[in-house]
Parts: sequence; structure tokens; C-alpha cells
Amino acid sequence: MTGCLPDRDLWDLSEGDGADGDREHLAGCRLCQWRTRRLAHDVKVIGAVLHGVPPPASVPAYTGTPASTARRTTSSAVAYSSRMCAA
Ligand SMILES: [Zn+2]
Repeated sequence: MTGCLPDRDLWDLSEGDGADGDREHLAGCRLCQWRTRRLAHDVKVIGAVLHGVPPPASVPAYTGTPASTARRTTSSAVAYSSRMCAA
């Protein structure tokens, strides 16, 4: 992931902070855009767990191509739900 932004910088940008150079990188980097969506999703899952509600649907896996990204989904939310129901 050389050249891409660290999670902390992605979080700052998602909160409306961050440097102009980082914002430019994010605007042109599909991997960092996906990582930002994933980071926001993870925060929602943490919030759901803390509030005892089902987590939101997961972010589709990053594949590097928009068409295949739309077709693929991860099953982490299903796996999470299964674990929570089994507990
Ligand atoms: Zn990047």
C-alpha cells in the first residue's frame, strides 16, 4: 500500500479535516476510497455492537474494478450475526 494514506488520515478526511494533498490523493485513489468506506462501516459496526443492535451490511470487497466490486460482497455481517445468535 505504498503511497496510500494511513487510516488516521482517511479518518481525518472523512471528518472534514485533513490536508489538501491527502484530499487530492483520496479523490484519485479507488483503494483509499474503498478503505474510507470500510472504515466508516467498521465504526458503524462498533456503534451497533455497543448499542446492542444488528450491524449494518458490510462494504463490498475491494477488487479494483467497479463492475466486479458491485457483484462481490463479503459475508462478514452474516458471520457476525451468526456468532451473535450463537452466543
Ligand atoms: Zn491511496
